[in-house]
Amino acid sequence: MTDHFAPPPARGCSQTPVLKQRGQHEVFCGLTGIIWLHRKMQDAFFLVVGSRTCAHLLQSAAGVMIFAEPRFATAILEETDLAGMADAQAELDRVVSELLKRRPDIRQLFLVGSCPSEVIKLDLANAAERMSAQFAPRVRVLNFSGSGIETTFTQGEDACLAAMVPVLPDTDARELLIVGALPDVVEEQAVGLLNAMGIGPVRVLPAPARNAEYGIGPNTVYALTQPFLTETHEALQRRGARHIAAPFPFGEEGTTAWLQAIATEFGVDAATFARVTDAPRARARKAVAQAAETLRDKSVFFFPDSQLELPLARFLTRECGMQAVEIGAPFIHRAVMAPELDLLAEGPVIAEGQDVDLQLDRCRAAAPDLTVCGLGLANPLEAEGLTTKWAIELVFTPVHFYEQAGDLAGLFSRPIRRRSLLKMEAAE
Ligand code: SF4
Repeated sequence: MTDHFAPPPARGCSQTPVLKQRGQHEVFCGLTGIIWLHRKMQDAFFLVVGSRTCAHLLQSAAGVMIFAEPRFATAILEETDLAGMADAQAELDRVVSELLKRRPDIRQLFLVGSCPSEVIKLDLANAAERMSAQFAPRVRVLNFSGSGIETTFTQGEDACLAAMVPVLPDTDARELLIVGALPDVVEEQAVGLLNAMGIGPVRVLPAPARNAEYGIGPNTVYALTQPFLTETHEALQRRGARHIAAPFPFGEEGTTAWLQAIATEFGVDAATFARVTDAPRARARKAVAQAAETLRDKSVFFFPDSQLELPLARFLTRECGMQAVEIGAPFIHRAVMAPELDLLAEGPVIAEGQDVDLQLDRCRAAAPDLTVCGLGLANPLEAEGLTTKWAIELVFTPVHFYEQAGDLAGLFSRPIRRRSLLKMEAAE
């Protein structure tokens, strides 16, 4: 399967002691996930229960996307709500009633918690239950938190998908569930490859609409497409579904290993697997090789941010010839990350959590060729002469599976090329 890749290292990072950091950390708000989630669920509406800051964040993160009928909004908590002087629950009931009267197309409503709603301990779970009873069967009301307190920006998607798992019906059908909100074109590629091997029906979480939903049960097997979906993973396990453990589908190797794990589960023979994957593998290999010319032997340092750090480090070291100095991840879920840790050769520091000043010191001392970090750290580090890549771009850009492998490598090679061009210009 991984014929032209190095064999898995004799000692991967599974046993490497993890540097646990519990200090000040730089995070970005979990409401961000609404920007990609609302495109995936055509009958859903995300009502953020938050402050004007939350409304501004959503508007600016959504950029120029203006919809005639938007699928997200903010119910503003005013100062009187925050001071406990008004009945925020009654106000929320009023806003939701008006919204659902005006928008008969909404079939799923998500009440999304924020820092302010958490600070005043607004009970959105209770509100969702009350509203579900009131508006059933037309509208289902669920809640999750996108609060930026102590979370990372990818946890919003995880919390949203995890909230949907308990309300899906029961089934005994043997079905494959692909978990994660991928761009449509990428999702179609993944489902197309699996269908071409004879695997189907393939279900996707989140489903595009409520009427396309399916059941979950003991014969459901599922594969995660994003490493940050750990709460969703736990929720699926509680429903009796079984996880197909695999590296994540980043790069040629990760994609092949991910598909192979599913193919093995469904008894696909080697000839069929090769017939379906050989051509896209060759395309991916060629595309990655171009970017790898810039990346080979360069060092990379990851600050914890997107939770994609470990799979990306595996891709960059094994497929692009980079050397990882430190791989920081906000959380490391052992069961989900085991296949990645097995493939990562020993050497880099593996860090979990953050103590940002200490990590900045380690980064400066290492002087890596590329630093992958959040928006807040990127500009100051660039000013100090380090070359950076914003982790958030990795979530907003299609990077999964074979056809995007070259683009994924290109995201890392571009800043290095730009920096060397700037150096050349300065020298002239
Ligand atoms: S949820 Fe918190 S971090 Fe996010 S925009 Fe609102 S106040 Fe800011």
